[in-house]
Amino acid sequence: MAERFLADKVAVVTGSTSGIGLAIAGALAGAGARVMLNGFGEPGVIEAVRQSLEAHHRTELRYSAADMGKPGQAEQIVREAEMAWGRVDILVNNAGVQFVSAVEHFPPERWDQIIAVNLSATFHTIRAALPGMRSREWGRIINIASAHGLVASPNKVAYVAAKHGVMGITKVVALETAGSGITCNAICPGFVETPLAVKQVKDLASQHGVSEEEAARRFILFPQPIGRFVTVEEVAAMALYLCREEARSITGAGLSVDGGWTAR
Ligand code: NAD
Repeated sequence: MAERFLADKVAVVTGSTSGIGLAIAGALAGAGARVMLNGFGEPGVIEAVRQSLEAHHRTELRYSAADMGKPGQAEQIVREAEMAWGRVDILVNNAGVQFVSAVEHFPPERWDQIIAVNLSATFHTIRAALPGMRSREWGRIINIASAHGLVASPNKVAYVAAKHGVMGITKVVALETAGSGITCNAICPGFVETPLAVKQVKDLASQHGVSEEEAARRFILFPQPIGRFVTVEEVAAMALYLCREEARSITGAGLSVDGGWTAR
């Protein structure tokens, strides 16, 4: 069994019914943390995932259906974890949505949704979780930003704006909590093979009449020098490292896991 260095810790991972969030929830549970899962999906499937993680990692997991697009519910997920386990030590802001379109055709309601889920939820959860972390003089806040928090691509105006905003929140919270036992960092993945990325590949393949493999290579992976998708396990390993005591001096950082994308 993996080293259980988080055995006394409670974690909230937003958007953890799928992709990167699910891998992070699994990694934290593997280190012994009790984890609040969250996200959309078919209730039976989510419950099966919850039970299997619980059995596999011999820790407790719960599920919150809170919608991160709604400010009150973003705060509520922190309260639910505090009610269940009395604390939140690790907060992973991961829930995210994407929409791709040129600025002049970008639907305003999509802009509002992406800013709400990808950016504003981060503020609401941090605001709710910080007092408890301060009282225990320990906390880890991990915001899943993106290479798009550091550089831009066309047709992703809301996503790029939201992720740059996440980098800003990360730095402010790191400065405000410096020296308190709390760290706040962002992880900036490149393209990771998850449902969010696979949908973009499928859309591009049908748009350009090419295979999904070719669409991935030509339209998605070209900025990523390693020429392949990053894996969810690679991102989860970075999140887990940030929870270690050895990582206590890393704060306010944007940690790229992007196959060299932003080195260009
Ligand atoms: P995904 O679609 O596999 O997972 C997204 C998760 O967020 C799901 O659990 C979904 O149910 C949840 N979610 C969506 N809207 C929500 C809402 N309103 N309230 C609560 N949960 C909600 O996507 P992913 O690729 O794993 O993305 C996770 C994070 O990583 C996102 O913030 C995304 O921007 C970021 N990211 C992804 C990539 C990539 O290439 N996949 C790259 C960089 C950053």
